[in-house]
Amino acid sequence: MIIDFTHSFKDYHEILDFYGVWDYECPNPECGAKQHPMRRHARYERSLVMWDADAGRLKEERMEILRLKCCSCGSTHAVLTMDVIPFFAYSIQAFLALVSLCMAEKSSVPQTGEKADVSCQLLYRFLLIFHEYAEKLMLFLRMETLWEGERNPLESQILPLLLGKSPPWPQSCFFQKFRSPIFLHRKSTVSYPLRFGSAMP
Ligand SMILES: [Zn+2]
Repeated sequence: MIIDFTHSFKDYHEILDFYGVWDYECPNPECGAKQHPMRRHARYERSLVMWDADAGRLKEERMEILRLKCCSCGSTHAVLTMDVIPFFAYSIQAFLALVSLCMAEKSSVPQTGEKADVSCQLLYRFLLIFHEYAEKLMLFLRMETLWEGERNPLESQILPLLLGKSPPWPQSCFFQKFRSPIFLHRKSTVSYPLRFGSAMP
């Protein structure tokens, strides 16, 4: 898997329509190929669950994903964007919108579930993931200068601060530095090593 932090769901067509030389490195750790080893290989369709702010509920979008093949080792890799959480059907916007509704004052998980037509089980899972990544989110807030306090913000403050800049945060310093998604919803990447691509030329 290659994650392109300079693109999002909205401009994925630029990736699909790109016939130039790819700047991504081969994600296969056993592959020694360095410069421009990737070639277009195939496309496939997947769904991405987005947040429809006007309707206040989720909507499913289909998107075409490009798969690249390494000329050197023959491995193939899907190109994802910064708003796609790896191994997760929900976009980062949908995830944050639902967590934010659950955490809003005078709101609760069952109420949010009913309003947005989502199961409570899923919402509790979202809250758990959010909690699990709180520290990384604080780092993100500092790097994006969304929080400059000496102490870390309270966990309940994270989300409003985070949404002070709407996702998917292109040009984010955090992504430029770490080349890693905030919510990598997988404990171990040992069996599936990830590499993160840089900008396309
Ligand atoms: Zn390779």
